[in-house]
Amino acid sequence: MTFTNLLLHNARLADGSVVDIAVEHGITTRIGSDLANAHGFKTHEKIDVNQKLVLPGLVDLHTHLREPGFEGSETILSGSKSAVKGGYTAVSAMANTWPVADNAGVVEQVSRLAREAGLCDVFPIGAVTVGLKGEALAELSAMANSAAKVRIFSDDGNCVSDPVIMRRALEYVRSFDGVIAQHAQEPRLTHGSQMNEGAVSSKLGLKGWPAIAEESIIARDILMANYLGSRLHICHLTTRGGVELVRWAKGQGMAVTAEVTPHHLILTDESASGFDPIYKVNPPLRTSADVLALQDGLADGTIDIVATDHAPHPNDSKDCEWSAASFGMVGLETALSVVVKTMIQSKKMSWEALADRMSTAPARIGGYSSHGKISEGSPAHIIIVDTTGAWKVDRELMASKSRNTPFHDFELPAVVTDTFYNGVQVLRDRNFTGAKYE
Ligand SMILES: [Zn+2]
Repeated sequence: MTFTNLLLHNARLADGSVVDIAVEHGITTRIGSDLANAHGFKTHEKIDVNQKLVLPGLVDLHTHLREPGFEGSETILSGSKSAVKGGYTAVSAMANTWPVADNAGVVEQVSRLAREAGLCDVFPIGAVTVGLKGEALAELSAMANSAAKVRIFSDDGNCVSDPVIMRRALEYVRSFDGVIAQHAQEPRLTHGSQMNEGAVSSKLGLKGWPAIAEESIIARDILMANYLGSRLHICHLTTRGGVELVRWAKGQGMAVTAEVTPHHLILTDESASGFDPIYKVNPPLRTSADVLALQDGLADGTIDIVATDHAPHPNDSKDCEWSAASFGMVGLETALSVVVKTMIQSKKMSWEALADRMSTAPARIGGYSSHGKISEGSPAHIIIVDTTGAWKVDRELMASKSRNTPFHDFELPAVVTDTFYNGVQVLRDRNFTGAKYE
């Protein structure tokens, strides 16, 4: 392992203070003013941050990396590159691979491939049920006790709809402080659904996806998790009613957390009007009233975190008619900029709140104790953001293997220029350094 001792000079933290940050052997060792001229730091490689913003590396609790099984769409290496380019130093890999990550062998394989890629941490999520079928509980303890140390379990893509299975899963994870991440969606209410159920779906003649399908499962599961004393995490909230339910549960002191995706913070079901499948996503884009409720919920902390639901798909599964297209959008490389556009530029949220929602809080929920902070004694997972910069999204320049972004040609604010993972500069001036942590 080769580390360079670094000094990040003139780094502006989220609270506005400007500091120097010393990084030695991958660890943040000193944070102070004008260390550049202090004794002991003369031989460090000095990087003048020039008062750009420095944040703890972002943490995504909801990433589809597609390997093993669907390497044409994404691999752990290409997904890691996409993460690092977007400012993420840790991502949680969803279990809907092939084979499904429902046993210790597959989650350990994902961990091993991530270490070989060496660009960021990839924490595997284990499936709740065997084969994501919703019928029999997967080997949760075996995955928790494996070298991959799985703590988050999810059948994402599918809802754990059987209340008996959901109950058993919630009971099981208590013993190792695990959490069930639920894709809240009553499947019998969404069978064959194509987009949000409402005025736009009626006009387009597409089968609707009612908000109540999401809200009924959220209501059931917050009550059940509270009854059992277990931790529940709600994936990708999309409805105003869902936000209200989580707000109520938190008001009661219940141990529930929730996430929102960047695309649900900015796009509405009106996007579907042109029948472009790039906007087809599960759960669907909702109405502007829902978007506002999600933004307000994220700002006041009802929604704990932003999670990308990065879902790479090959071109041919999007270059087709709406009803035949796959659900999903890539998101790692645009997430920060979309949150800045919707939440910072609108003055709904501060940079400190953004750092919490995109790094500190997801690290806490996932139990990723080395992430989510810039502090003395912690591994240096740090990003540099040019907050005054802007960029035009070009899907052809993405590090992801897939191109299914709804933000192609969008002008977005805030540019991630540099990413440090364990003190190694894996992205420098927007270019991969080839640096590898081993
Ligand atoms: Zn999902």
